[in-house]
Amino acid sequence: MFSTHFLDLPPLKHASGTVVLPGSKSISNRVLLLAALSQGTTLVHDLLDSDDTQVMLTALEQLGCKIVKSGSSVGSTVEITGLGDANKRQYLPSANLYMGNAGTAMRPLTAALALLASGTTEFELSGVPRMHERPIGDLVDGLRQLGCQIDYMGQDGYPPLKIKAATSYQLNKAIKVRGDVSSQFLTALLLALPLIATQDIVIEVQGELISKPYIEITLNLLARFGINVQRDGWQKFTIPVGSRYVSPGSIHVEADASSASYFIALGAINTTADDVFTSKISIKNDSTSNSQALRIEGVGVDSIQGDIRFVEAAQAMGAIVKSGPNHLEISRGAWPLKAVDLDCNHIPDAAMTLAVMALYADGTTTLRNIASWRVKETDRIVAMATELRKLGAKVVEGADFISITPPAAVSDWATAPIHTYDDHRVAMCFSLAAFNPAGLPLRILDPKCVAKTFPDYFETLFSVVQTNASAIPVITIDGPSASGKGSLASNLAQQLGYHYLDSGALYRVTAFAALQQGLSLEAKDEVAIAALAANLVEKLHLRFEGDIIWLNGEDVSDDVRSEAGGMHASLVSVLPLVRQALIELQHSFRALPGLVADGRDMGTVIFPDAALKVFLTASAEKRALRRHKQLISKGFPAILDTLRVDLEARDARDSSRSVAPLKPAQDAKHLDNSDLSIEESANHVLNWWQGKQRF
Ligand code: C5P
Repeated sequence: MFSTHFLDLPPLKHASGTVVLPGSKSISNRVLLLAALSQGTTLVHDLLDSDDTQVMLTALEQLGCKIVKSGSSVGSTVEITGLGDANKRQYLPSANLYMGNAGTAMRPLTAALALLASGTTEFELSGVPRMHERPIGDLVDGLRQLGCQIDYMGQDGYPPLKIKAATSYQLNKAIKVRGDVSSQFLTALLLALPLIATQDIVIEVQGELISKPYIEITLNLLARFGINVQRDGWQKFTIPVGSRYVSPGSIHVEADASSASYFIALGAINTTADDVFTSKISIKNDSTSNSQALRIEGVGVDSIQGDIRFVEAAQAMGAIVKSGPNHLEISRGAWPLKAVDLDCNHIPDAAMTLAVMALYADGTTTLRNIASWRVKETDRIVAMATELRKLGAKVVEGADFISITPPAAVSDWATAPIHTYDDHRVAMCFSLAAFNPAGLPLRILDPKCVAKTFPDYFETLFSVVQTNASAIPVITIDGPSASGKGSLASNLAQQLGYHYLDSGALYRVTAFAALQQGLSLEAKDEVAIAALAANLVEKLHLRFEGDIIWLNGEDVSDDVRSEAGGMHASLVSVLPLVRQALIELQHSFRALPGLVADGRDMGTVIFPDAALKVFLTASAEKRALRRHKQLISKGFPAILDTLRVDLEARDARDSSRSVAPLKPAQDAKHLDNSDLSIEESANHVLNWWQGKQRF
């Protein structure tokens, strides 16, 4: 996940390969609650691992469910033991439950807890400030009709809430609930009411029910847990007397169809593969599939999620979509995309993706019946209008619609930092604007907000998009030994979310491997050492994992990073064939979204086109002192005077060698960090970097 303040996307051009999407948020949280309300254990496969599901899991654990997790973020499995039978459920502990900004946890849990509270048990439900602005009054009204005791702890109609035990339930009259603000109110009632189905319970929806497909997901999952709700149109729902939650034992969560929308759109705006783009990212290509198409694993058009109908909207705009069991293949059809005028009530979340696709359409696109956007993570109509305008689009917004006219000419496109309003979908859909025909980069602010539903969204995006290597930004940090290049470069890489190349490590590993094989580090063994250098990854399985350097499955970090390791590196680094052999590997680090590279010749030889080159120096005395401190702290013996002599010897050798001698690039910025902390140095460089940006 990118936890940086912002993420700069270089202009993107092409996408191919396969994405495996994380599980659906809506399905995940419904399944978790149903499993909690069932007796016994349910194994939930492919559960989404995100902020919203974490909120639900934590709450259920607080209530007494046993939760055992296994697996990684995509495809994680959770075993959840439910709260037990009616008898056991009477003795739930009082709890303060934190709901974050997760509507899919807040609403159903409110309903369930209002029916579970008994005796003196009390529950408090609160969330982030935005959650306290998201209406819940209609659900509370519905539950109060039943006899539930729910108090507003802040403003009437909004969380936080306090829930106490009901004295009795009124089940004779139909429960009325509004359906035109959020379908989650009805979902919440449907999920929870089987708890008290001592007779048929009837729910009547008032007003036109929005987001019906989400109700279909709810009904479908209830059926999987043994509860067959009778539906009369979309106005009346009956929970049959005697309904009981029965765990299916194990259940798979489909990939998120709303998350699929970004990749469906990506396939639709993708240029053809004839444009030549180089990228070292390996792409998993299915030989049987259309190489021009983008393949999405985890959902097909037979999905139970309503947002899968985004496929139809994308097709209407020109996308070519093929579907098989549990997968989709998307390629570009019409170009520019076709402007559409669509009622989006059935795909409220995915419709945001259409709003960004509209930037690439041949006229004005209007998305209608989207009033629910106003009560989501943020007021999405305002958010989308504001941000689309920044890119040069003309936008008209109304109470329940948005109209987008793309920039008239390429020169009318603009770029700006995109605010994301703590709204994962704003961040994800705007990443598609990096395909703009003007070739402008794009800055996404607070990229980590995608964690709500798709923590690895940007990593997944970067695994299938390519652009010219020259469009991928590089910052080089060159300088003499122990000038602090490594600390500065890795700090910058972290702050920018960029890859990091420690080129010195490659020379160190080469020397280490050469010595292991009994070679001398002198010119007489140059050809053999160069052969090793050329095969560090393929044959010697060199791998960097954080600070650890793996060679042939062995952690060689300490040996390689020792002072002797540095001396040995400086011997092999004078050999021209060795330098040549390492060029390709160093270039391969230039991958999306960008690279910070440190060494001696990063700015002069390896990345001469780097957007920012820094030459970092510090006095020999300071450098020897720092290195001394560093070695002692790692438990290596070190003598200050010897270190200084060694450093000066390495500097002399690095500066006087015939190939790629250590010297500042002509266009390098000089930074003497003798008296600067790493943070201060990083701030200097980030200021220079910011001065070069278009936003
Ligand atoms: O930066 P570090 O101390 O790890 O580098 C070890 C040695 O590798 C340097 O002294 C230098 O001789 C060599 N080197 C190089 N070119 C680079 C990086 C390191 O010649 N780009």
